Amino acid sequence: MSANQAFLPFTKPTIDEETISAVADVLRSGWLTSGPNVKALEAQLSTYFGGRPVRTFNSGTCTMEIALRIAGIGAGDEVITTPNSWVATANVIIEVGATPVFVDIDPKTHNIDLNKVEAAITPRTKGIIPVHMCGLPCDMDQLYAIAKKHNLRVVEDAAQAIGSTWKGQRIGAFGDFASFSFQVNKNVMTAEGGCLVLNNEEEAKLAEKYRLQGVSRTGLDGIDVDVLGGKYNMTDISAVIGLGQMKRLEEFNAKRKALAHHYFTSFGADFESSTGAELPVADFTNSNWHMFHIVLPERVNRAEFMQKMMDLGIGLGYHYRAIHLFTLYRERGFTDGMFPISERIGKQIVTLPLFPAMNESDVERVVSAVKSCLQ
Ligand SMILES: *Cc1c(COP(=O)(O)O)cnc(C)c1O
Repeated sequence: MSANQAFLPFTKPTIDEETISAVADVLRSGWLTSGPNVKALEAQLSTYFGGRPVRTFNSGTCTMEIALRIAGIGAGDEVITTPNSWVATANVIIEVGATPVFVDIDPKTHNIDLNKVEAAITPRTKGIIPVHMCGLPCDMDQLYAIAKKHNLRVVEDAAQAIGSTWKGQRIGAFGDFASFSFQVNKNVMTAEGGCLVLNNEEEAKLAEKYRLQGVSRTGLDGIDVDVLGGKYNMTDISAVIGLGQMKRLEEFNAKRKALAHHYFTSFGADFESSTGAELPVADFTNSNWHMFHIVLPERVNRAEFMQKMMDLGIGLGYHYRAIHLFTLYRERGFTDGMFPISERIGKQIVTLPLFPAMNESDVERVVSAVKSCLQ
């Protein structure tokens, strides 16, 4: 790494001084756990998602688990999902006692191949968890047509998709359950956290129960517990970070989009044909550009490529290794070759730096490093 160039990580949160002092105010207030800031964040998110009920949690993962529980999905049921995601997406299916059924992805979008979903439906199929990978939405018309035809509940893993749209409507503002993550790498972050967009107040009340040990209040000094819940509530410290982030969401996403656009311009029209690498779908309408990835050609060893980039001061990610090839999933009968597209992507994908505080010269630096490391 040349001495005058700082290390460029693949992502980094943008936290302003206003947010930092708001966190300090919460700490000084004495009310640290779920309180007024959680309520305020939920109200703001509900407005953001077109007035639908929204509840916050301490992770994105648990929002999906809770959505499955609210839908009554459990032992004996099958849930269809994609092998190309963070392992959380499939783990929650096992967590509620149901069986994950994988369907391979589309090689271009890296989202679940909806054309292959119907062949995987059985009489036991109760739900589907699609992922809007990198913020690029699934075909929502096709998704909900399949769900309606086969009477499936949908839990959208929209962990990466805050601010993404479909035909002008925000992801989460329509459909069935939509789950968002506020983990530190996401477009809106609360350090750790997440939210679930629900269909009605009845579901929202159930979500509150599952969030806190199944407790419901029966008066000033009374509680009852009639379902088994966990401990999933968001703190006010996290919520106030989220409020500071929500203020800047449009700005953050606009910056991401501009940087993504600059990646395409900088790679140039012949990048794919001259290197054999693949660029993402150039969607500047729907995507929130949560991540910018490239797929390396087969001839390139990813670990070696990542090391060379690291030597040039550039950190890369890889999102994701195919879930079904992890030991836990192999033990459940999954093997190599079952979902070849996810397996190839899982081995060859790299995530390039993209975050709001970057500038165009950072993008150009990454692009020239990628080109030289591919030679
Ligand atoms: C981040 C992420 C999750 C998990 O979110 P957490 O808040 O870390 O629990 C799940 N699915 C996808 C696609 C993600 O990107």
